[in-house]
Amino acid sequence: MTATRVFQLGLMSALLAGVYDGPTPLREVLRHGDLGLGTFNGLDGEMILIDGVCFRMRSDGSIDRPGLDERTPFAIVTRFAASASASIDRPMDRAEVISLVQTMVPSENYLYAVRVDGSFESVTTRTVQRQTPPYRPMREAVGDQSVLEFRSVAGTIAGFRTPLYERSTGGHVHFIDDERSRGGHVLDFRILSGTVEVCVATELDLRLPLDDGFRDADLEPQDLGEQLTATEGPTS
Ligand SMILES: [Zn+2]
Repeated sequence: MTATRVFQLGLMSALLAGVYDGPTPLREVLRHGDLGLGTFNGLDGEMILIDGVCFRMRSDGSIDRPGLDERTPFAIVTRFAASASASIDRPMDRAEVISLVQTMVPSENYLYAVRVDGSFESVTTRTVQRQTPPYRPMREAVGDQSVLEFRSVAGTIAGFRTPLYERSTGGHVHFIDDERSRGGHVLDFRILSGTVEVCVATELDLRLPLDDGFRDADLEPQDLGEQLTATEGPTS
């Protein structure tokens, strides 16, 4: 197994605490990978990085390609090289795909990136809405999110699954359609056919933002697990 590295900027747990601005420009994030996800300063949309191209998916349904000077408080990216792949030739719901992925990785104890390309019967996504200071914790901010269901759509799901000991990373997946016109943070899906690729990572390059917001955040609330489920949806 080759030593694939994942670059992570910031912590999911800092987002939960309402640290929605960070000092790092997108250009820095793109130096470290070609597949990934995250968000933008002010929680202004869901980020997906696919084949080296970054898209911003906003709560009004619009998608654009953000400039390299746009800043982000949280992103996680890797140079995706599939260590295993499988084809999906019958309809599968989200839980079945997760089970399939679990058969493709050597252990639950590693971090891995996953990419699913295919035809989906449905994909349900949420997209965070841009926040203005003073920021509320994410559990409250996601009350503004829009939830959309796309039906009969071809596209790509990409993201990360993190081991239990790395919950502050907050593994999850984002979706974008083939036309790059619809997408968001995935809550649920049902795929008709496609391919699944996983990339097992054994190196994590964690960059913590050097700014006051991150420095002063409470990153160890008693109910971290509950907050993750409430804001990101089920993680398994
Ligand atoms: Zn997300």
